Amino acid sequence: MTQLTDLTLAGIRDGVAKGEFTATEVAGAFNAAVAGAQDALNAFIVTTPEAALAAAAKVDADRAAGQTLGKLAGVPIGMKDLFATKGVQTTAASKILEGFVPPYESTVSQKLWDAGAGLLGKLNLDQFAMGSSNESSAFGHVISPWRRPGDTTALAPGGSSGGSSAAVAARIVPAATGTDTGGSIRQPAAFTGISGIKPTYGRCSRWGIVAFASSLDQAGPMARTVTDCAIMLEAMAGFDAKDSTSLDVPVPEWAASLSGDLRGKKVGIPREYRLDGLNEDVAKSWDAGIAWLKEAGAEVVDISLPHTQYALATYYIIAPAEASSNLARYDGVRYGQRDLPNGAGLQDMYAATRAAGFGPEVKRRIMIGTYVLSAGFYDAYYTRAQKVRALISRDFMAAFEQCDVILTPTAPSAAFALGEKSNPLDMYLGDVFSVPASLAGLPAMSVPAGLDRNGLPLGLQIIGKPLDEQGVLNAGLAIEARANFVAKPNMWW
Ligand code: GLN
Repeated sequence: MTQLTDLTLAGIRDGVAKGEFTATEVAGAFNAAVAGAQDALNAFIVTTPEAALAAAAKVDADRAAGQTLGKLAGVPIGMKDLFATKGVQTTAASKILEGFVPPYESTVSQKLWDAGAGLLGKLNLDQFAMGSSNESSAFGHVISPWRRPGDTTALAPGGSSGGSSAAVAARIVPAATGTDTGGSIRQPAAFTGISGIKPTYGRCSRWGIVAFASSLDQAGPMARTVTDCAIMLEAMAGFDAKDSTSLDVPVPEWAASLSGDLRGKKVGIPREYRLDGLNEDVAKSWDAGIAWLKEAGAEVVDISLPHTQYALATYYIIAPAEASSNLARYDGVRYGQRDLPNGAGLQDMYAATRAAGFGPEVKRRIMIGTYVLSAGFYDAYYTRAQKVRALISRDFMAAFEQCDVILTPTAPSAAFALGEKSNPLDMYLGDVFSVPASLAGLPAMSVPAGLDRNGLPLGLQIIGKPLDEQGVLNAGLAIEARANFVAKPNMWW
């Protein structure tokens, strides 16, 4: 029999429903896998084996009692440690929140538990979701389960959802939540050979998710297959009155409507994404993706997104601006760390708490954000960035008059080594393909497309029209069927 930990989310759910194995057996197998990989991968900040077993026991009891099972009944998952989980420490991978145990549950995680999922633990991430490599976590780097053949160099699992990507790729969780502000679901998915979708801004409630940049933050699933992503997104999405940006629209049955037949569909290839000096293997996988979508029946059209070159600069003004405002709440008064030097006044306490609690990347973003929002520079940077953001959105709307979905690489390279990118700008440049869709609030997903010459995964990104997650998932399915991505990390841990 296949190992339980090799099964997909759909395979687990169906096997539990049919009684081929129990949810308790599944939870036990994943709890063991999580424990066995923790020292090597550091994917989790805390593990919650008892929570996984309790959820599984409930599913087994419900099944025995003949009750209808939820969409994710019996599926244990990992939660990025950016989602507030009642009674379980939630840190955003920052010292400033160490020891914070929320008295409430985020809407998205509650929906997952309501659907029958169980919690294996809280996954490591870049501190406050700022980063692309997982090196900004206050709880240590996550190590990718992937290695270049014959080479033990520790590679980045991508970021910020790097604990999620590493855990799914290592098959120690069948699926995980991620959040994506400028690429944090898609880029780690690409680096680790898994799938992940960031839905349309507003599809998933942000209530109870630690805020980074509120006009960009979205939650989404990360899993090994497109079908698993569709199933899990259905459970995560939906209107929530507690989030004023939540969209009050029905959640479609994405999984049931999946189809890789793209006849009659048009796929746009944005010429501005063919950067000078684009990595050859990335360019090749993009060409392969184009050929696969044609084979699936789609017509491929050349499109232009003329403001693409400004997207990175725009993102790195807007995201830090919103972060500087959102992170003002960590002041040593309400929750988390408090540094109160002897005889200190309120200002000293704020300063000491924030100096000790935030990591260097978070401080950098707060300083950039405060600068671009300051009275003298607001119009020159923040207002201008908002205008350019509108132009970037308009580019997409114009392009979608000519095509249904857009195909691009997810990231400009495969995974790099931990420590390799020491200059923040180098790190930011890696977000070049993911931030435009974020700025426009569009659904976008990454699917594995193959391996580069060093044996490391590459991802392709599909960007869709607002609320057309179905179109994105369908194109993803068409690629998945042809890429035949069966490579997996060899279990060196
Ligand atoms: N890498 C990007 C950043 O550092 C995106 C992060 C994210 O999507 N959370 O801001």
